[in-house]
Amino acid sequence: MLINHLRLADLMQQHKEELATIESIDSGAVYTLALKTHIGMSIETWRYFAGWTDKIMGNTIPISHARPNKNLTFTKKEPIGVCGLVTPWNYPLMMLSWKMAACLAAGNTVVIKPAAVCPLTALKFAELSAKAGIPPGVINVVTGSGGLVGNAIAAHPDVRKLGFTGSTEIGQVIMKTCAESNLKKVSLELGGKSPLVIFSDCDLDKAVRLGMQSVFFNKGENCIAAGRLFVEASIYDEFVRRVVQETKKMTVGDPLNRSTAHGPQNHYAHLKKLLEYIDIGVKQGAKLRYGGKRVDRPGYFLEPTILSDVEDNMFVAKEESFGPIMCISKFHDGDVEGVIKRANATEYGLASGVFTKDLSKAMKFAESIDAGTVFINTYNKTDVGAPFGGFKQSGFGKDLGQDALNEYLKTKCVTLEY
Ligand code: NAP
Repeated sequence: MLINHLRLADLMQQHKEELATIESIDSGAVYTLALKTHIGMSIETWRYFAGWTDKIMGNTIPISHARPNKNLTFTKKEPIGVCGLVTPWNYPLMMLSWKMAACLAAGNTVVIKPAAVCPLTALKFAELSAKAGIPPGVINVVTGSGGLVGNAIAAHPDVRKLGFTGSTEIGQVIMKTCAESNLKKVSLELGGKSPLVIFSDCDLDKAVRLGMQSVFFNKGENCIAAGRLFVEASIYDEFVRRVVQETKKMTVGDPLNRSTAHGPQNHYAHLKKLLEYIDIGVKQGAKLRYGGKRVDRPGYFLEPTILSDVEDNMFVAKEESFGPIMCISKFHDGDVEGVIKRANATEYGLASGVFTKDLSKAMKFAESIDAGTVFINTYNKTDVGAPFGGFKQSGFGKDLGQDALNEYLKTKCVTLEY
């Protein structure tokens, strides 16, 4: 598998412009981001897991049944068999790669259903995988709807593991289907409403720049997007003024144009949902500081939007938008405990972030926050070597890093007496 992973990564590298163009047209991601992140990180993921293919091993374990000990106990890591993967539309090839590269490195075969609205890079990938010499039957891409194809994979008695990325709502359906069919092993990477806390002792230029990226990256269709920004009272007005000023400069337009910063939303139903989300926010009292409307041009374009004065009980404070909508709330000066409590008051637990120059404060935040990822003075910095996954209703299990391999392995324990 080592050679196959590397060959596949090389072929993806050779076809990276083509893959990025397809991804950009299919998902609306701006081409430059598609090239660097959607495709670039997919290639890195295949190279990273290539390195694990020949390093999967168990342990020898001292056991104490008898003296003198004439036992040898050891564990073996074994592949699960046929694994099913179901993925979403926001980073189509990257979500496929995060799961499949680990799944195959562990020695399994795979059946994947990409999102119905964005299946094209998965199909191009299947073509490249055949060219890379991956034997027939190892990678199987089945397109179609979740209700039909996704459900059939989750319910199939020969599938022993289901790796899912998508919404919490569908994650719950999938878990039930997996339990009722053959109790298959499940890992779920689900939605989020990640808090980003900005203290007044931060580097404000950086907090403004990365605060914007935390929300607007990939036009907000980013599971770890900061769903809510908590800003300390003494810098609140200045922060809001500056993010509005900078957001006005973002070029919205054709995703294939190299100078575009913000492309169209993925599909019409999603755009419609985002407009309703903004409407509810404003009706409940949030202040619309910028954007909020569909852009007057063909395509599913939404202006990057900023809502301030968001209160804890509002719909927009609690629900994930999965779009380019910044929701800003204020917290009292110096109220570290209070803001952490508010940041944790969510059923989600995917990611979180904090901006402060005070490392004790940052570490207190990191220790207290109930989320699978914590960014300190940065945001969106995922890496193929670092485990990624949520807590609470953001799911369980990890993608990326060494931890991801265990999602696709069984541990067998062998004891012999000699
Ligand atoms: P979704 O509606 O949950 O769909 C995800 C996938 O599940 C799609 O392929 C979908 O098929 C399929 N599906 C739908 N119903 C199914 C069923 N009954 N059985 C089996 N499969 C079924 O999510 P989405 O709208 O594509 O993606 C947005 C969500 O994904 C957001 O909540 C976002 O936060 C989350 N997300 C999480 C992560 C993470 O790592 N935690 C990463 C990215 C996205 P169709 O194509 O037919 O809909």
